[in-house]
Amino acid sequence: MSEARAFVDRHIGLAPADIASMLQRLGYESLEDLMDAAVPTAIRTKDLLNLPEPLSEVEVGALARKLASQNVPGEPMIGLGYYGTVTPGVIRRNVLEDPSWYTAYTPYQPEISQGRLEALINFQTMIGDLTGLPVANSSLLDEGTAVAEAMTLVRRAERNAKGAFVMDADALPQSIEVVRTRAKALGIDVVVADLSQGLPEGDLFGVLVQYPGASGEIRDPRPIIEAAHGRGALVVVAADLLALTMLEAPGTFGADVVVGTSQRFGVPLFYGGPHAGYMAVAKGLERHMPGRLVGVSIDAEGRPAYRLALGTREQHIRREKATSNICTAQVLLAVTASMYAVYHGPEGLAAIAKRTHLHAADIAAGLAASGIAVVNTTFFDTLTVSVPGRAAAVVRTAREVGIHLRLVDADTVALSTSELTTEASVTAVLMAFGVGRTGVASVTLPESLVRTSEFLTHPVFNAHRSETQMLRYLAKLSNRDYALDRGMIPLGSCTMKLNATAEMEPISLPGFAELHPFAPAADATGYQQLVSELEGWLAEVTGYDKVSIQPNAGSQGELAGLLAIRGYHLANGDTHRDICLMPSSAHGTNAASAVMAGMRVIVVKSAEDGTVDLADLRAKCEEHAEDLAAIMVTYPSTHGVYEEGITEVCELVHKAGGQVYIDGANFNALLGYAKPGEFGGDVSHLNLHKTFCIPHGGGGPGVGPVAVREHLAPYLPSHPFHPDTEKADGIGPISAAPYGSAGILPISWAYVRLMGAEGLTRATAAAVLSANYVAARLGEHYPVLYRGDSGLVAHECILDLRGMTAETGVSVDDVAKRLIDYGFHAPTMSFPVAGTLMVEPTESEDLAELDRFIEAMIQIKGEIDRVAAGEWTPENSVLRGAPHTSRALVGDWERPYSRELAVFPAGIDPDKYWPPVARIDNAYGDRNLVCACPPIESFAD
Ligand SMILES: *Cc1c(COP(=O)(O)O)cnc(C)c1O
Repeated sequence: MSEARAFVDRHIGLAPADIASMLQRLGYESLEDLMDAAVPTAIRTKDLLNLPEPLSEVEVGALARKLASQNVPGEPMIGLGYYGTVTPGVIRRNVLEDPSWYTAYTPYQPEISQGRLEALINFQTMIGDLTGLPVANSSLLDEGTAVAEAMTLVRRAERNAKGAFVMDADALPQSIEVVRTRAKALGIDVVVADLSQGLPEGDLFGVLVQYPGASGEIRDPRPIIEAAHGRGALVVVAADLLALTMLEAPGTFGADVVVGTSQRFGVPLFYGGPHAGYMAVAKGLERHMPGRLVGVSIDAEGRPAYRLALGTREQHIRREKATSNICTAQVLLAVTASMYAVYHGPEGLAAIAKRTHLHAADIAAGLAASGIAVVNTTFFDTLTVSVPGRAAAVVRTAREVGIHLRLVDADTVALSTSELTTEASVTAVLMAFGVGRTGVASVTLPESLVRTSEFLTHPVFNAHRSETQMLRYLAKLSNRDYALDRGMIPLGSCTMKLNATAEMEPISLPGFAELHPFAPAADATGYQQLVSELEGWLAEVTGYDKVSIQPNAGSQGELAGLLAIRGYHLANGDTHRDICLMPSSAHGTNAASAVMAGMRVIVVKSAEDGTVDLADLRAKCEEHAEDLAAIMVTYPSTHGVYEEGITEVCELVHKAGGQVYIDGANFNALLGYAKPGEFGGDVSHLNLHKTFCIPHGGGGPGVGPVAVREHLAPYLPSHPFHPDTEKADGIGPISAAPYGSAGILPISWAYVRLMGAEGLTRATAAAVLSANYVAARLGEHYPVLYRGDSGLVAHECILDLRGMTAETGVSVDDVAKRLIDYGFHAPTMSFPVAGTLMVEPTESEDLAELDRFIEAMIQIKGEIDRVAAGEWTPENSVLRGAPHTSRALVGDWERPYSRELAVFPAGIDPDKYWPPVARIDNAYGDRNLVCACPPIESFAD
C-alpha cells in the first residue's frame, strides 16, 4: 500500500520548496524564525497545543460515521418550527454539496455573483409572495432571531414607540426566550399574552402573532391586527411557509412584518441549523430592515443586473446606528429553500402542504373516533392531544417504533406531520395512542382563512419541473459566479481557505442531517460527544475555560460575549457599567453588537501606525472608570498587524474595572502561537466559517462560538430545551436551537482532527508567510499601509491606493473590477480604511496562484501608470471600463484601448472566467428599488 500524503500537506497549498524560496525572499531561515520575528514574545504561548494526534481522511471519515450512527433521527414529529422535509437529490448534490455554491463569498462584488444573487432574489420573491408583503430580505439567522429582529424593527419604525412588545402565548417557546434575552439587554418590556382574549391592557408598540400557533391552533390574525393598529402598534406575524400555501397571506390581512424559517423547504433538520430565517415587510419599512437585501439595477451596458441594495442600513456602514448586527446570514440555505420552490412550483408546494394537512386530519379523526381530545380546534399540521396521565407512555411507545413526538406535559402530547409523513406513520402514531385508523379525512381549514391569493406566478417557479431542467438551471447560475473552485479569493478579514471535501462529507450523513433539535438527549449522543470535543479543543486553542458553540454567526458570538460581560457586571452590582470602548478600526458588527447588548460605544483613536492609541485609551479609561464595561479589540488588529501594545491595552482596561473582549475572527494569525485567554482576554468569539474551514456559502452559514474565562462562564447562552439540563436556565438563548448551527460543526471538528496540533500551527505560519510574501512583492508597487515593529504583517496586508486615487482618479473600485478581467476576486475593499485593499491569501493557496495574483496586481499598477501619464483619462481607461464581458469581442469598439487588453490582459486563456455583466450602477438600484424577480422581458436585448 502506498503511503498517503498527510492531510496537512493537502490543506496547506505551499510545497516545501515554495516555502523555502518565499522565506529566502523575505530573509528568514525557517518558518519558526519568521514567526519568532512576527509574533510579539509577550503574547506567545509556550507549549504545543494539547490536541489529539492527527488522523487520516479515511480515519476521520470512519470516526464521523460512528458519531453520526450514535444519533437516532427517527421520524421527526416534534414540530415547533422544525419539520421533516425531503431535500431533492438534484439540489442536495448540486447546491448543498457543490463547492461552486458553498465556497462562494458574500456577493459584495455583484458582477461576479450574479448566479447566487438571482437565487436570492428568487428567495425574496418566494417569501414576498407567500407572506403577501412587498419586500423580503435574503435571509436571517433563524426564526427566533428573526422575531427578535422584528421586535427592534417595529420599535425603530415607530416615532414614539413606548410600552411593551406583546407576544402570543402560542408563539414558539424558543422564539419567546430568544426575544426575552434580547429585550432584557435593551430594557424592552415583553408581555406574553393569550391573544384569544384580545390584547392586554397598557401601552404597547408591537404584537407578535404565531400563525399557526405552536399548539397547532390557527388564529385569525385580523382582529389582533385591527386592535393593535388602533392602538398605534405594529404587528409581526411569525408564519409557517408551507401552511401559507393553503392559508391566506398575513400581508393581505394588514400584517406589517412577517417572519419565520424556510427550513421545511428542503433544508435538512441539522439538529437545529443552519436554516434560513426570513423577514418580509410592508411598504415604508424596507429601510428599517435588518440583513441583506438583493435588488435589481442596471449594468454599464444597460442590462438588468442584481446587486445588494440599501447597504447603508447595514453594520459595515452604519456601525452603532445599524438596523442590526447581522453580517453573515444563511445564504446557502436560502438558496436551497428557494430552489425547492423553483423545483416544486406553486402547485407542487400546495400538494405537499395538502398531503401534510390530510395526514394530520387523518390522525385527528382517528383520535376523535376513540374519544381522545385534540385540544386545538383548528390545525394545519400540528395537533395538541390530551391524554391525561398517559403522555409519557404515548411518547415512549412512539419512540419505540422510531417516531419522535413532543411531550408537552404529563397529560399532553403534541405532534406535527410533514412532507415525510406516510400512511404507515399515521397508523403508527395512532397505535402509540392505542387507537386505530378510521378512514380518510378531508381538508378542515377555517374557511375564512383559506388562501385565495396567488403565489409564485413568476416564470422561474414554473419552468423547471424535470430534473434535467433543474440541473441545468443550477449549473447556469453557478457558472456565473466566481467561487474558490475557480481561483483565490484574497479577502482580508474573511479567511477564504480550503473547505476540504473530507470535512464537508459528514454533514450529509443522516445521523447528522436528519435529527430534530429537540429530540431526546438519548437519541443525540453522537452530537453531544462531537460538541463536547469541539468545545474542549476550542477552549484549548484559545486559552479560555469554557466555550459555547450556540451563536450561529460571528455577530451572535459578539452579542453573547457582551451579554456575558453585562451579566457579570450586574451580578457584581455594577449596574452602571455600560460603556464599551472600541478602536476606530473595529469591524462594524462590534459597534452594532454593543448597542444590542445595551452598551454605549466610545471610540478609541488609532495611532499613526495603526495601533490602538494608548494615550487616548488611557484618557478614556480614566474618564469612564466609573462606568466602563468593556473594550472590544480585534487581534491581530483589523489592520493586519500583531500589536505589541495589546497586553498593555488589557491591563489598562482591567485596572479601570472593565472586561476585555478580543474579537477572534482573525484567529487564523494566532492558532497555535498565541491564546487570547492567556494574554489578557476575558472573552472572545471565533468564526468557524473563517479559521475553522466552514465554507462561506455565499454569505452564510456560519458558527461564532463564544469562549470565556471561568468568571464569565455562568453567563454563557442557555436554552430552555438544552439536552444538557444544567444549561436549560441562565441568561437565555442567543439562537433558536441549543447548539445553533449544529449541522455544520462536523466540518470544524473534522478539520481539527485531521490537522492535529502541529498541523494547525504550521497552517498559521504558512498563512503569515503568504501574507508577508504578498506584502513584500506588492509593496514595491503599492504602499503597504501598516506593518508591525518587525516590519512584518500578520496574516493579511493593506495596500494603500489613496495616493494613486488622488493623483489619477483611479479608485479601489476600478482596481477591484479590473481584477475580474484578470480572473480574480477582489480583496476586501475600503475596510478598515477607505480607499485601500486588504489582501489575505491564507495558507491554502499555492505559490503559483499567489504569483498569478501578484502579477495581475503589478500589471494593473502599470495600467494606473498609463492613466497617470495621460494616455487615458480615468473615465475611458481600461480600469473604469472593467469588468469587460464577452460582448467586448464583437460589434463596434470605440474605446481607447484594445479588445485584447480588455478581455485577455494576461494572454489568451481558454479557461478564462467571463463576468456575465459589466460594471453595475449601484446608485441607480437604490433609487429604483426592485427586490423581487424582474419580468423575463427585461432581460431581452
Ligand atoms: C467576519 C468578522 C466579524 C463578523 O462575523 P460574522 O460571522 O459575519 O457575523 C466580526 N469581526 C471581525 C473582525 C470579522 O472579520
